[in-house]
Amino acid sequence: MTTLEIRNLQVSVETDDTAKEILRGVDLTINSGETHAIMGPNGSGKSTLAYAIAGHPKYTVTGGEVLLDGEDVLAMGVDERARAGLFLAMQYPVEVPGVTVSNFLRTAKTAVDGEAPKLRTWVKDVRGAMEALRMDASFAERNVNEGFSGGEKKRHEILQLELLQPRIAILDETDSGLDVDALKVVSEGVNRVKENTGLGVMLITHYTRILRYIQPDYVHVFVGGRVAESGGRDLADRLEEEGYDRFLTAGV
Ligand code: ADP
Ligand code: MG
Ligand code: MG
Repeated sequence: MTTLEIRNLQVSVETDDTAKEILRGVDLTINSGETHAIMGPNGSGKSTLAYAIAGHPKYTVTGGEVLLDGEDVLAMGVDERARAGLFLAMQYPVEVPGVTVSNFLRTAKTAVDGEAPKLRTWVKDVRGAMEALRMDASFAERNVNEGFSGGEKKRHEILQLELLQPRIAILDETDSGLDVDALKVVSEGVNRVKENTGLGVMLITHYTRILRYIQPDYVHVFVGGRVAESGGRDLADRLEEEGYDRFLTAGV
């Protein structure tokens, strides 16, 4: 059992001349096997939460803590966070010029496990995961994110999830830019990893659509840099009907 605990997290973002306060005391606990949907209007700080946990240099933690099984995540380097079992898929994945998907995956796996994977089983694992995500074998020889379509980026993200076997995954807008078929394949991938490994998931999304395919155990509404309300799946249904107006006009 793994637990990611976010306690009273406060985060500022560095702009040209000032620091702007974005997260204003976030409390959230995610255990193995649980899926927590983080929903909220644009600009409410959802991605900031993901970036702060990932250790992005632009985001400064000004208060609170993030603990993984009691260990201080914020004191860890970015690689250490991955080795500790955190997986952070970013909303806008970067290009890695000249590095093929195949090499990228093997380097990442080696970094996370602390040793290179056994070649024969690794090749089989990669092939199996790619087939499960309905990816063509030639994809492995392309350069990371170079000219990837939205769907290919997301599939590549879930491919990493399948192969790296993290304990807690933070997925930011995994549904954005996907048609229904791609959304299904990607969701099936997340569900497969959940089932096989007991992965805990923080699923950040603006829309309820993906929650038809990945069932959340908990739903949190994020407004103005903090959790405004938490509930079960029925809260997502309410949001689908009512939108976020109720929270915005309440002046939260
Ligand atoms: P969400 O993911 O919920 O749409 P974000 O976390 O992306 O929200 O943004 C929250 C707020 O922080 C917004 O007002 C946004 O403009 C600001 N912000 C986020 N990242 C940056 C950045 N790198 N530079 C300047 N402002 C930022
Ligand atoms: Mg946004
Ligand atoms: Mg965002």
